[in-house]
Amino acid sequence: MATSAVAIIFAQKKGILYMAVSVFAQSLLQWHSESNSRILPWKEEKDPYKIWLSEIILQQTRAEQGLPYYVKFISKYPTVFDLAAAPEGEVFKLWQGLGYYARCRNLLFTARAIVAQWQGVFPQTYTELLTLKGVGEYTAAAIASFAYDLPHPVIDGNVYRVLSRYFAEPTPINTPEGKKVFTALANKVFDAQHPAAYNQAIMDLGAVVCKPKQALCNLCYLSDHCKAFNTDQVDQYPLKLQKIKVKERFFSYYVFLHKDQVYIQQRTHKDVWQDLYEFWLSEGPAPAALSSLLADEQFVLEYRQNIFHYKQRLTHQLIRSDFSLVRLKRIPALLKGPGIWINKSEIHDYSFPKTIVSFLEEIPYF
Ligand code: SF4
Repeated sequence: MATSAVAIIFAQKKGILYMAVSVFAQSLLQWHSESNSRILPWKEEKDPYKIWLSEIILQQTRAEQGLPYYVKFISKYPTVFDLAAAPEGEVFKLWQGLGYYARCRNLLFTARAIVAQWQGVFPQTYTELLTLKGVGEYTAAAIASFAYDLPHPVIDGNVYRVLSRYFAEPTPINTPEGKKVFTALANKVFDAQHPAAYNQAIMDLGAVVCKPKQALCNLCYLSDHCKAFNTDQVDQYPLKLQKIKVKERFFSYYVFLHKDQVYIQQRTHKDVWQDLYEFWLSEGPAPAALSSLLADEQFVLEYRQNIFHYKQRLTHQLIRSDFSLVRLKRIPALLKGPGIWINKSEIHDYSFPKTIVSFLEEIPYF
């Protein structure tokens, strides 16, 4: 008796959920065909190379910010062969300003792998796509659905937000449990008959209607059945467990100049901005070796302290930088390596993190 009651309840629950799922996907696709006016150059794209490129650029980047980079990359490297053959420095230069440089490294690595191991043809299954460096579940689902119409739902921040509000799902999204719950929910509501349209619709709805702040519920096709909206709790969702701890770091940059040359060095160690260039850096208090150099009149012609300050926020770090300018009469042993002396006019040939780019923009005639 108990078993059959459970079975009936389960069947009823399943029936209710199925109906809710149906309504969700229907409303979403109706909005997409009638009112989704978001225009982006990679929408409706079927070329997996272009889809992959746009998705890598858009990881941790707003579409408006990523758009000019996508246009630049596609015009310079129209095919994966062009990108694979490009020199690393050139690709990094084009990427400059987007941040998260590991993405750029993976981009080039994967382009070369596609050419070397896949004869320039992108893998055509979700599982094979996942083997590419820099391609996670979200990107694999996007390429699989947009390029090949395969039934894989995308799950990103926009999707979490829409689902958590629509179902008033209380599990915090930034927990392993949240990942499980929302992945299951995303798969249940997914319209496997229209994977590309569905995925595009939910991403766009999250970006332009069900926005993080000031969601446009009055214009939303999902509002009739949206639990958060109908209980006036839109701002309560999605739930998050706690904020990420941010580590604060202090960088002192010394811009060493000798005649028309400036000293720069590459960040080769595993840390932020790996492979990018910077000026001579001291993290924390300035080292003794530099203090005695700065006081030595036979080397130093001009020393302008703290001429520029910049604060750059990364996901887990806040980097506060100070810049000082040191014009040298001659080059001391300390600055004979490991960095390089380049002509100031060549500085724009190198890739720098946003902090250094801001200095160069602010003080162009250093
Ligand atoms: S009604 Fe509001 S909260 Fe609900 S899905 Fe639409 S925009 Fe989001």
